[in-house]
Amino acid sequence: MGLNLAEKKKALITGGTRGIGRSIVEEFLQSGFADVVFFFRSSVDAAKELEEKFSGEDFKIKGIQVDVADFKAVEKAVAETIEFLGGVDVLVNNAGITRDNLLLRMSEEDFDAVINANLKSVFNLTKTILRPMIKQRGGSIINITSVVGITGNAGQANYAASKAGIIGFTKSIAKEIASRNIRVNAVAPGFIETDMTQALNEEQRKALADAIPLKRIGKAEEIAKAVKFLASEDSSYITGQVITVDGGMVM
Ligand code: NAP
Repeated sequence: MGLNLAEKKKALITGGTRGIGRSIVEEFLQSGFADVVFFFRSSVDAAKELEEKFSGEDFKIKGIQVDVADFKAVEKAVAETIEFLGGVDVLVNNAGITRDNLLLRMSEEDFDAVINANLKSVFNLTKTILRPMIKQRGGSIINITSVVGITGNAGQANYAASKAGIIGFTKSIAKEIASRNIRVNAVAPGFIETDMTQALNEEQRKALADAIPLKRIGKAEEIAKAVKFLASEDSSYITGQVITVDGGMVM
C-alpha cells in the first residue's frame, strides 16, 4: 500500500541532533510518518548533516538552534516551526542534560541548569504549542522522562527531580486538555546507548546489563518506536500515561 502523504503528521522534536532525539527524527522521516522540525542547542554541524541526510523531495525537515530553557526564544522558534510545517500535531519534549553530583557537592547552578533544561523547557514548549494545537482540534504531546524520575538515583537529585516533575506535568496537562482532543503521555527510558551514557567503563556497563532482565543496554531506536506509537492514532485511547522502555529494569 502506498503512503498517503496528505496524512503526514507535522512534528516538532526538541534535542534532535544526537541520541534519542535524533533517532526519533529519523524514525518519523524514514517511515513517512511526519515532516519534522527539530530544536538543538549547540551541535550546528550535526544539525546541518541531519538536514542534508533528508534533503530529498520526499522529506521536509528543518533544524532550529534555540535554548529550550528560554521561554521567549522558544516562542519565536515555535512560530518559525508553525510557519515552516503549516502547524504542529506532534510535540516531543526530548531535550535534556545531566549534571550529576552528590547533594553535598551539588552547586545551586547545577541544580538550576538541569531543572531549567529538562523541566522548565517542557512548560515552555507545551504552553507555547497549546493554542495552535487547540485551534487545529487535536494533537499528541510526548515528554521524555526517565526511570530515574520513578525510582530516584543517588548522585542525580537534580535530574531525578526534573524527570519526576515531567511525570506530574504530563498527568496534569493530560487532564486539562483531554477534552480538546490532545493526548499527553511520557516515555521513561531505562539505560540507553547515547552520548549521555558514554561515561561508564566496560565493567560498569556489564554490571548494568546484567541487572537488566533483558540483559542488555537499550538502543535509541527502541525509544523512537515507542514515541511514534504514542504520536500516532494507534494510541488514540491512551493519555496521561508513562510508558517505561527499559528492558524490564523497573517493574
Ligand atoms: P544526548 O545524547 O545528550 O542529546 C541531548 C539533546 O538535547 C541534544 O540534541 C542537545 O542539543 C539537546 N539539548 C540539550 N539541552 C538543550 C537546550 N537547553 N536547548 C536545546 N536543546 C538542548 O541525550 P539523550 O541520551 O539522547 O537523551 C535524550 C532524552 O532522553 C533526555 O531528556 C534524557 O534525559 C532522556 N533519557 C536518556 C536516557 C539514556 O540512557 N540516554 C535514559 C533516560 C532518559 P546539542 O546537540 O545541540 O547539545
